[in-house]
Amino acid sequence: MNFALTEEQETFRRATRAFAEKEIAPIAAERDETNVYPVELLQLMANLGYLGLKFPSEYGGGDGGNLDAALVFEELAAASAGITLGIYCHVVLALTAIARIGNDDQKRRYLAPGIRAEKIGSFGSTEAGAGSDIAAISTRAERDGDGYVLNGAKLFCTNSPIADFIVLSSVTDATRGGGISLFIVDRGAPGLSVSQPIRTLGMHPAQTAEVVLENVRVPVENRLGEENRGVPNMLTAFAEGRIVAAAFAIGIARVAFDLARKYVLDRVQFGQPIARNQVIQHRLADMDTGIQAARLLTHQAAWLADHGRPFVKEASQAKVFATEAAARIAAQAMHLQGAYGYVIESPAQRYYRDTHVLEIGEGTSEILRNVIAKQLGL
Ligand SMILES: Cc1cc2nc3c(=O)[nH]c(=O)nc-3n(C[C@H](O)[C@H](O)[C@H](O)COP(=O)(O)OP(=O)(O)OC[C@H]3O[C@@H](n4cnc5c(N)ncnc54)[C@H](O)[C@@H]3O)c2cc1C
Repeated sequence: MNFALTEEQETFRRATRAFAEKEIAPIAAERDETNVYPVELLQLMANLGYLGLKFPSEYGGGDGGNLDAALVFEELAAASAGITLGIYCHVVLALTAIARIGNDDQKRRYLAPGIRAEKIGSFGSTEAGAGSDIAAISTRAERDGDGYVLNGAKLFCTNSPIADFIVLSSVTDATRGGGISLFIVDRGAPGLSVSQPIRTLGMHPAQTAEVVLENVRVPVENRLGEENRGVPNMLTAFAEGRIVAAAFAIGIARVAFDLARKYVLDRVQFGQPIARNQVIQHRLADMDTGIQAARLLTHQAAWLADHGRPFVKEASQAKVFATEAAARIAAQAMHLQGAYGYVIESPAQRYYRDTHVLEIGEGTSEILRNVIAKQLGL
């Protein structure tokens, strides 16, 4: 058993942190304020190989694994969660769906340009009547000659305002439950419109919007995977994403903790740094324990997935534990900074606002507990 990163992984982690601190952290507060996504950053990340890290070299990727992805996303999220959410939806949702489910032609037309940041992807499952219940969608795809005609609306589709294509789910056989297929829809397709970004509590730079489809024609070669296999294909393609989502949460928790630790050492009340109070020391001890435990669960799940072992339970546990720990730690970190953590100039309030959605996306905590319980034979 070896808990240490290899020298290569450690060098890679350090380089990623340096990149995130130089290119992302300095614009985090401003983009949180202006809600504008730095699209040009994706090109820079593509040039450095980050977007293709987990994908096959045949399509321009880096042949990396889940542990590599976890290391990268912890560092990116530590710099800006809102900016990282856009990268996540492009890489971990849209490109991963194509890499795992698509055929060679689809990978050449969408995955390879996505890795090069020439095309930005978005993923749409959620609808007004279907969130956790991904099979309850009402968007329809009717077969028509050599294509399909899509009608419906997807909600909370992150990246859709800046995307070149959207991978989305549609009902292809209404006569049977789960008769759902996935499609790659070009953003410029006639009949497809995207709303203004939806205003949310946190993750401000990420562009999350509604996508409306009115008689949108999609060629049959853009159906992703077999017809009516959309739900099982999505569940398989996105199982590894929970590992990355857990690492994402750890990144925010880590910087929230660092900020609080520095503050309690500096802040003097009643003639001494507030860190001299044991109650505050214990709170920081618990926060750090949460971060270490979350990282161990996450790296273990990544290791299992990278070694071809069953990992669904462990990835779900890592995601539930890390995202709930991050939300708790960010709230405590803000509290430890009193009024100064609550002012808009403090990153503490941003970390607090950014964490909660991680307990909702990629399977809510309740849904993932259902997954864990099922894996336990319950
Ligand atoms: C900022 C942001 C970005 C997003 N980006 C995307 C995106 O890019 N693509 C996309 O498709 N979606 C996206 N979403 C949507 C997200 O995936 C959904 O919000 C999520 O799947 C939950 O669905 P819901 O909000 O409809 O909640 P619901 O499913 O209605 O759940 C509401 C509550 O009920 C609980 N609940 C539901 N069913 C059960 C059950 N069986 N047992 C116990 N509890 C249950 C849930 O855990 C939750 O607490 C985004 C959301 C946000 C806020």
